[in-house]
Amino acid sequence: MRLSFRGRLFSLFLSLFLVVGLLAGLVLERTLSDRIESAVADQLWSLTGVGRAMLAQLPDIDDPFVVDPVVDSLARESGYVVLVVNGQGRLIGDSRLILPQIKEAPSFSDELEFKDALARGRGASQRALWPFEERLILSARPFVDGAGQGIVIAASPRRQVEALQSDLRMRLLAIGLLSFVLSAIFAALGSHLITGRLRKVVSRLKAHGEDHEEELPDLNRTPDDLEGLTASVDLLLAQANDLVDSLAGERDRFGAVLQAMDAGVMVLDHQGGIELMNRRARKMLKLPKSALGGTIEEHANFPALEALADVNSTESLTEEIERMGPPLQTFLVSAAPVAAGGKVLVLRDLTPVRRVERMRRDFVANVSHELRTPVAIILAQSETLLDGALDDQEMAQKFLSSMHRQAERVTSLINDLLDLARIEAGQRELEREDVSIVAAARRAADGLASKAKKRDLRLEIDVPAEQTAFVNASALEQVLVNLLENAIKYTNEGTAIVLKAQPDGKKRLRLEVWDEGPGIPAELQNRVFERFYRVDKGRSRDLGGTGLGLAIVKHLVGQMGGRVGVDAREPNGAIFWFTVRRSQ
Ligand code: ADP
Repeated sequence: MRLSFRGRLFSLFLSLFLVVGLLAGLVLERTLSDRIESAVADQLWSLTGVGRAMLAQLPDIDDPFVVDPVVDSLARESGYVVLVVNGQGRLIGDSRLILPQIKEAPSFSDELEFKDALARGRGASQRALWPFEERLILSARPFVDGAGQGIVIAASPRRQVEALQSDLRMRLLAIGLLSFVLSAIFAALGSHLITGRLRKVVSRLKAHGEDHEEELPDLNRTPDDLEGLTASVDLLLAQANDLVDSLAGERDRFGAVLQAMDAGVMVLDHQGGIELMNRRARKMLKLPKSALGGTIEEHANFPALEALADVNSTESLTEEIERMGPPLQTFLVSAAPVAAGGKVLVLRDLTPVRRVERMRRDFVANVSHELRTPVAIILAQSETLLDGALDDQEMAQKFLSSMHRQAERVTSLINDLLDLARIEAGQRELEREDVSIVAAARRAADGLASKAKKRDLRLEIDVPAEQTAFVNASALEQVLVNLLENAIKYTNEGTAIVLKAQPDGKKRLRLEVWDEGPGIPAELQNRVFERFYRVDKGRSRDLGGTGLGLAIVKHLVGQMGGRVGVDAREPNGAIFWFTVRRSQ
């Protein structure tokens, strides 16, 4: 039979009480029994002392006629048996016997209590005394005086002591039974209280199971409710683990999304401390990792963002704000309050968009400006011709050739603008193939040979004949024409312009145009690729430049997957370079 948890608890408590009670009872019984015996022995010993004192008063202690009456009266008063034996072991007085019997009594000289009393001053034994069968407890004390030597013996029936002991046992048994009943009650109460608590836990588990429709074991039916409880706790623990796992997964996914976001995200606590920020936010605001936990004020010099984060509003706000530079940055920031206090800031960097817009505006202004000058010259000169200068042959010739030059300038400007517009719109499809660099460079150089000759320049191509690149042939040629043409325009007369090819990593080649002109100041090396940017405006215009050549180069190279740049050449000159894919 299997006991329920409560039954087992009850039996455990009860056995515990029983074992403790039994041990205590046994020890008590033993101790008290011994106490009774030693109390009787003490009383007998005292009585012998009284006997000795009385005998000392007697004139002759060897005479039974004198001694026996004293012995009888002592026995009467004390309720014990009293005997007197002389130094030879002969009985002189006995409270149980009459004088004739005393004379017949056997000698004590061989008895233990007699010998011990004489030898050690105290004797004791348990035995029957002639002529009766009843066992007695004996205590013997010697005495010596002028009249002679002897022993006083006091005795008590053993039966009396045993009666006291069995009375004690009966009482202990009664106490034991009472304790057993009380223990059973306490054990029942204790197990009831403990299992009551368990029942509460179980009923809560059941309620949880019903709420969540989970498969908790039927706690009422399991024979051992502790078993059901263990199973339920196991199930709940497993569910808690699953929950922790899924929350951890959720957190990882959220973290991944947050980090992958193109927008910068910052979470501030109610005191403005940065609780969380993604990589993008850190990059945008150039914050160190240690900024976590600090405030925007401490780590980013961005008063407008602080002000927006401080706005006390229950609605989310979106504003475009600027961070003073250099470089000047523009952000679109949404600040949304969080229910628990604090704010979530979402930042989008509008700096590139705003820069492009600015460039567009500048571009229109630049184009108008570039066109206005030649058109104004054409207009003025044609008016002069119409006003009569046509008749002056020499003047007409001069004006017409100037007008032609200006018209050519307008044409090349428009052509460049159209090229650029087409490239930017992605209309010019750049199909790529393996192209011999030397051949493309030759074609470009041939077209520019007369211009180079006018300035007494040598065009040298220092590229291995077999070197090929995976590019668009006409785009490569146009890039080379633009770079070589610039070199021809700006380098010093009588020098050499060299085209070189260098490996750039495993997959790329770097083509370089070396000249010996004025070069480009380091701080302007990036800007020369912007549209209409000229280092020396007057000189460029005089040379028929449009300010768009390098912008076209940058676009074409970019569309072929390469990069462009310019380095300084020592002692003077520029190295314009671009990279292309090598043929496989
Ligand atoms: P442009 O038509 O004025 O030459 P580009 O876009 O080709 O326009 O060049 C932009 C500016 O870069 C030029 O105005 C010139 O000041 C400078 N530049 C270009 N190439 C060279 C060079 N090889 N040496 C010195 N300056 C150059």
